[in-house]
Parts: sequence; structure tokens; C-alpha cells
Amino acid sequence: MGPVSTHDDVVSVVRRARDSGKRVKVVGTGHSFSGIARPEEVVLSLSNLRGIVSIDRTSATAVVNAGTTIADLNLELDRHGFAMPNLGDVTYQSIVGALSTSTHGTGINHGGLATQIQGFTLVTSSGEILKCSPTSNDRLWRFGRVSLGALGVIVDVTLNVVPKFALEAVEYPEPVDDVISNWDRYTRENDHFEFYWVPHTRWALTKRNNRTDRSLTEKKPLATFWNKMVMENLAFGALCRVGRAAPSMIPRLATALPSQGRQERVDDSFRIFASKRLVRFYEMEYSIPYDALPEALGRVRAMVDAKGFTVSFPVEVRSVKGDDIPLSTATGRDSAYIAVHMYKGTEFEPYFRAVEEIMSDYSGRPHWGKLHFQDRNYLDRVYPELASFGELRDQMDPEGTFTNAYLNRVLGRKSGIPD
Ligand SMILES: Cc1cc2nc3c(=O)[nH]c(=O)nc-3n(C[C@H](O)[C@H](O)[C@H](O)COP(=O)(O)OP(=O)(O)OC[C@H]3O[C@@H](n4cnc5c(N)ncnc54)[C@H](O)[C@@H]3O)c2cc1C
Repeated sequence: MGPVSTHDDVVSVVRRARDSGKRVKVVGTGHSFSGIARPEEVVLSLSNLRGIVSIDRTSATAVVNAGTTIADLNLELDRHGFAMPNLGDVTYQSIVGALSTSTHGTGINHGGLATQIQGFTLVTSSGEILKCSPTSNDRLWRFGRVSLGALGVIVDVTLNVVPKFALEAVEYPEPVDDVISNWDRYTRENDHFEFYWVPHTRWALTKRNNRTDRSLTEKKPLATFWNKMVMENLAFGALCRVGRAAPSMIPRLATALPSQGRQERVDDSFRIFASKRLVRFYEMEYSIPYDALPEALGRVRAMVDAKGFTVSFPVEVRSVKGDDIPLSTATGRDSAYIAVHMYKGTEFEPYFRAVEEIMSDYSGRPHWGKLHFQDRNYLDRVYPELASFGELRDQMDPEGTFTNAYLNRVLGRKSGIPD
């Protein structure tokens, strides 16, 4: 069916589906690599339910329709003089799709996107419309902020926002050993630090984004080192295609990635945080305890050499402040994130599985929206409240209206409830 436009439309789609024993999958923009957003029967798109509903300047909060893309949200907030305090590295996603999978950016003093939620409105499987907020202080508020789409349809969300701000981006390569030795210092010295280790080389591309009062008029051309030289660059796509045809060339091709050059620019925060991704890839990302990063990444590097994998895509490393949202990948601990990628059309599974095995030794938590091979048995060990989430889900969605194969794999089902 086509996109719906009102809360009542959502209620009637959900009721109709439930009454006829059908499953409903609410989709954002389908930017998850995992099967989390895969519809099996009825597809519910909220892409017509978009835009900012209201902004409260005193409390610095914005009520946002669920289908709003992050890109549109940024522009609209900017027009009102506000911004999101932190973002991931693309803005194609719908805001609620991103929140529901625990999407995050980088910065050890910043939680994932869901930590900005101040309230949300949920349509349940029985068609009830519930308002949830910190003052409602119930289980639905605690669990609903990162809910994988399993508890119902969120139709709007209230977010903390901040006055708009500029960031200064500084990007340059450094020897990866130095970056790893300085991981904690670099992370704490900068508002937003991340790096990309280039497999088969001893180089990492580092990115430091810091708030600045420097005027935007000083801003440099949009092309940054990373965008131009790596992710958006057609040369990088070409390099990946050569690597796909002849994997043994990859280690030599990787050395073509530059080990020198520095880019600086100042721009609106949201233009610095996010960039375009023109090269298609598969991705898996794990969160591990923040302090475990140097050892865990060292093991990934050694494993790539030992197993002889040829990897044309850099490994991305970020950090996020711990939070108290039960299914957030940073729940209960400050976290480091290691993301591995493979060029579309190349074999990714053996490499991803080998990385996953290492991450499991650190109680790693896979990103809900990215590829991984874990199920409820493993996830129960790394999410102390997964069983409670499952109980709430069984209560909220007794007929399995909002489930799909992925959710059944990662959350399991109580016996008697249809798979
Ligand atoms: C190129 C690329 C870059 C990425 N960069 C990052 C990054 O920097 N950081 C990061 O953490 N992640 C990143 N991701 C992952 C991405 O943020 C998540 O997969 C996100 O969930 C995708 O949003 P979406 O709108 O496409 O949601 P979908 O994939 O469509 O849906 C995801 C889940 O949300 C649920 N959902 C969607 N809308 C609603 C709603 N209204 N109510 C209830 N449930 C809903 C769906 O049912 C599904 O379970 C990236 C992904 C890609 C493809």
C-alpha cells in the first residue's frame, strides 16, 4: 500500500492487518543492511508523515514526524536556528528508523541518537495511541527508545535539540600504531574523533571534528580528504572493482591510498558530520567496551594477515558515551565501535564472521541495522535486559503483528506466539 498521511491512517492499517492475521512492517528508508526492515506481508511507509510538527524554544525540543529523513530534519532545524547535537555519517535514514536501530555518531561525551529522545507517540498492535515520556516513567518509555520496530509504530518523536553550531573538521592520515596508542587521548581531546584503518597498510585516516566559533565564511571547499580520496571518489570505486576482479591485487592497491595530506574546513555541524556514500558496500559494526579498543583492533589486524583476507575497505572506529536505554548498543558502558565493510558483490561472510568471533570475546554488541550472525542465545548474554524487552514485546504484540524473521532470530518468541 502507499504511504499513509495521518495517525488515524496508521491505526487503521495496523487494525486491519491484525484482524486479518497479517504482519505489518513499518519501514523507514530501508537503509539497514540487516533484515530488520524486511517486510513479509503488509508494508507501512510513513514517508508522507514528515517534517517538524513544533519547536519549543524554551525547552529546546522539537516534535518531529516519524517519516522525516535526517537530511530534511537538519535543514528544517537549521532554518529555526537549531541542530542535532551529534549525527552518524549519513543522513539518508528516516529519523525513527535510525533511532530504532540505535544509530550513533562518534564522541565519547555524546550518547547515540536515541539519547536525545524526550518523548514519542506509539500506535500499538491493538490500534491504541500512547504518549510516552520520561515522566510517564514506565517500561514502554525505557524500552521504546530503541525498539527495533518490535513494539509498535512510532508516529512522532520529541527530540532534544541544541542551538545551531559550526564544526571545524581536520582530517589527515597517521600511522595506525600511533593512533591506537593515543586512542583515549585523541578521543577525549576532541568533541568527535574517529579513524579508519586501511587494511594491508600501517595507515589510518583520522577525523577530528570540534566545535568552533570560526566563521563559516572561512569555510573551505566541501571536498574533504576522506570524501574526495576515499568514499565518494570514483577512483576508490574503481579500485574496489579491480580488487573484486583480482583480490590478490588488494594489498598493493591499498598502498595507493594516500599517507599524507591534511584537510581542514569549517561548516555547519550537520554538513560536517555526514557525507555522501557513492560506493556500495556491505557493513557489520560491533560495539565493545571503550577500553577494549586497542586490544580488539590489534586482534582484527593480526587476524586479517593470518587468514590472508583481502579487504579493500577501511575499518571504521568510533566511540559513544554509555547510556541507560536497554537495547542501545551502548547500554551500561562507554563504547568503542568497530565497523568492517566489503565492496558490494565481494564475499564478505568469512571476514565478517572472523571479526565477529573476536568481538564476541569482548561481549560485543552488533549494530541492529547492520549485518551480523548472532541470535537470541548470544544476545541474551550481552544485553542484560533483553529478556525483559521480550516480555514487553509479548504483551504489546501478542499476535506477532510487528514481527519478521530477523526480529524472531534476535529476540526469540515465547512459545504459543506465532513465529
Ligand atoms: C550508507 C549507510 C551509512 C550508515 N551510517 C551509520 C552511522 O553512521 N551510524 C549508525 O549507527 N548507523 C549507520 N547506518 C545504519 C542506519 O542508520 C540504520 O540501519 C537505520 O536504521 C536506517 O534507517 P531507515 O530509516 O532506513 O530504517 P529502516 O532500515 O527502514 O528500518 C529500521 C528499523 O526501524 C523500524 N522503524 C522504522 N520506522 C519506524 C517507525 N516509525 N516506528 C517503529 N519502527 C520503525 C523498522 O521497522 C526497522 O525495524 C548506516 C547505514 C547505511 C546504509
